[in-house]
Amino acid sequence: MGDITGKRVLVREDLNVPMEGDRVTDDTRLRATLPTVTELADRGAIVLVLSHFGRPKVPSADTSLARVRPAYAAVLGRPVNYIDWEGDAAAVAALQPGDIAVLENTRFFGGEEKNDPATVARFAALGDLYVNDAFSAAHRAHASTEGLAHVLPAFAGRAMEAELDALEKALGNADHPVAAVVGGAKVSSKLDVLTHLVDKVDHLIIGGGMANTFLAARGVDVAKSLCEHDLIATVEGIFTAADRAHCTIHLPYDVVVSKEFAANPPSLRTCNVHEVAADEMILDIGPAATEALADVLKTCRTLVWNGPLGAFETPPFDTATVALAKTAAALTKDGSLVSVAGGGDTVAALNQAGVADDFSFVSTAGGAFLEWMEGKQLPGVAALKH
Ligand code: ADP
Ligand code: MG
Repeated sequence: MGDITGKRVLVREDLNVPMEGDRVTDDTRLRATLPTVTELADRGAIVLVLSHFGRPKVPSADTSLARVRPAYAAVLGRPVNYIDWEGDAAAVAALQPGDIAVLENTRFFGGEEKNDPATVARFAALGDLYVNDAFSAAHRAHASTEGLAHVLPAFAGRAMEAELDALEKALGNADHPVAAVVGGAKVSSKLDVLTHLVDKVDHLIIGGGMANTFLAARGVDVAKSLCEHDLIATVEGIFTAADRAHCTIHLPYDVVVSKEFAANPPSLRTCNVHEVAADEMILDIGPAATEALADVLKTCRTLVWNGPLGAFETPPFDTATVALAKTAAALTKDGSLVSVAGGGDTVAALNQAGVADDFSFVSTAGGAFLEWMEGKQLPGVAALKH
């Protein structure tokens, strides 16, 4: 970047944090911006932070980034200016080297999501350089995530760099054997991920609602379980592709079932997958399966994980997820495993297990993480390389 003293740097961050009233309920994303924003300010740049916030149809106080400013200033431990989209050019011109400002919600412009050249130009006029630090928004080709990289000298921020490095280590240039855990609720939205993964990994571990559809494809009667029966043909295609690629698919052979979906239900029991009764549903994988999967992880060098193994929000259906997450964390601490996890519910489950900090890398990106697992080029990243 060279000398950036007095240069106006447009930094795309993801300040789209959850809020209750005036309170930010999870400031992970604000903290993630610290390395880039403080480094730029300390190097004498005028730091202009761009972000979306919510999904505004029209500008509203509710979706104004003015709401986030106080919490952001607290996280940075420095004053943060707020600049709205009226008189912004003059407000930016009044800033001094080392100052930090949050610009108003980029989605207040209809052209943001359309990547409209006029909106790109509107943003670009405020800055001399562009830094994209928001991996979680990089799967979208919007004006502030993609367009700006084509009209200003463009760089990756520190958090973006760290994320890309970790992901490259986990799938791009991984140490084998590699295991992938894919669980969660929806087979349909993760089919492309699975198709890509069978070519990349040695072990594909299927859990969660996803496992029910795979078991059904193998002729198991999953009774009342969450299952996408219309996708069985597609799942058969994944088995074939896995065989061809010498990828082993691991399905549970025991499961935790119950007649009702409730915390610690009276009808709770563990059984073989072939013994699920007509009025029961599978809500977690069983202890024997969990132990077998732990043994698989012990033979692996790399793990990538998306999707919980059971309905982890409701006890005791978090048991398998917590146990396998603890195994992965211990192996990572021992230095025998590189572990990368991502996805909204997955991160929540790892936090619940108390092991998120012990994984090599936990991506807070949901959609971008999945698209990366699918092997897609993320437009925001591709534009930086361009
Ligand atoms: P992520 O957000 O990490 O990508 P998903 O959104 O795909 O994960 O899946 C998470 C959801 O899957 C959780 O709400 C969890 O309760 C649900 N789930 C997992 N296993 C089961 C199951 N056997 N039956 C019903 N729901 C399940
Ligand atoms: Mg989810």
